[in-house]
Amino acid sequence: MPTMADLAGFDAPAVRAALLAWYDQGHRPMPWRFIAPARPDPYHVLVSEAMLQQTQVATVIAYFHRFIAAFPTLAALAAADEQQVLRQWQGLGYYRRARNLHRAAKQIVVNHGGEVPADVAALRELPGVGPYTAGAIASIAFALPEAVVDGNVARVLARWLALRHPIDKPATQRWLWHAARVLAPSTSADRPGDYNQAVMELGAMVCSPRSPTCSTCPVARWCRAKAMGLADQLPVVSPRRRPTTQTHHILALRRGRRLLFSQRPDTGLWAGMWQMPTLETDSGQISPATIMTWGREHLGLTLADPSQTHAFTHLTTHRAITFRLWRSDVEGGRLARGAGQWRELDDLTDLPLSNPQRRIVALLRNQDNHPPARRRINRGADRCSR
Ligand code: SF4
Repeated sequence: MPTMADLAGFDAPAVRAALLAWYDQGHRPMPWRFIAPARPDPYHVLVSEAMLQQTQVATVIAYFHRFIAAFPTLAALAAADEQQVLRQWQGLGYYRRARNLHRAAKQIVVNHGGEVPADVAALRELPGVGPYTAGAIASIAFALPEAVVDGNVARVLARWLALRHPIDKPATQRWLWHAARVLAPSTSADRPGDYNQAVMELGAMVCSPRSPTCSTCPVARWCRAKAMGLADQLPVVSPRRRPTTQTHHILALRRGRRLLFSQRPDTGLWAGMWQMPTLETDSGQISPATIMTWGREHLGLTLADPSQTHAFTHLTTHRAITFRLWRSDVEGGRLARGAGQWRELDDLTDLPLSNPQRRIVALLRNQDNHPPARRRINRGADRCSR
């Protein structure tokens, strides 16, 4: 394990000064970012930090503008219906963040008079706010001397300090947090929010995961990894586990011009979002007869000769999900209570859909406009956030 001796001799004040000077000269503009003494709206920081978890800045900016236009204040977000919130988040993935943000806004209204609390302990009480997010909000929105450790910070610190231990291990993470606190500014006057953003900016723009550009790095002279010729070998990370594989059989069930949509459960993957009825399995193939039986038992519907038309694979952090699209007309039966809603494909604006479901809807719309000469299974693969 690394020890505190690993921090000895590291000239933190000089690194902070060089880093902030670099940041002041050329940081990326972001709608929630202001340079001290100007301060951002704490609500904007809360929203941006929720969106930035697992998602890159370039992707977040358009969603941030859209979200703030829909919910201009924390009170407006707290008063919104969860389906509206999910709808504004649609496409950004990792929808639990949206649900947690919504719950956090409600909690802030009830417990803090509608003002984002300027206190790490109180921030940590909010749904979805872990140590990183609490430190980020406290330092960026309120200039409190709090440290942060996310993926970018961990990589930068591991290189500054030539850390040879896997940064994903809990003990190393604890050490990194300690190191981050030692190195970060200890007073508000020393711009802790800007410093934290500067470290993350360095990690994103210069000290990149595979090819750090040390020749342009503003803190290269203090970097131990560079001095030891280890910059592109650090940080050390544990081997990744293979993602679990699943198959989701999506049933595009037609009754006239309308298709059936149902809501996912309140917990788990894509919680609370809408989809075409889905049969989830660990194995790849099932028969049309199985689809018909499932439709009868779970939906109360008699299906006509289901046929599979498309398949594609969607990768999330821990799963490789193969989507198989089945199409069938509904011949009879009575839709089971709570099994869903019949909707035309042009009437889905109020239903939040995950990215794979949106892909399937687009595909069905396209097929409706351009019916295929003959049916065949198309295969594809994509990688995107949930
Ligand atoms: Fe990263 Fe290279 Fe700068 Fe060190 S010198 S912090 S490895 S970019």
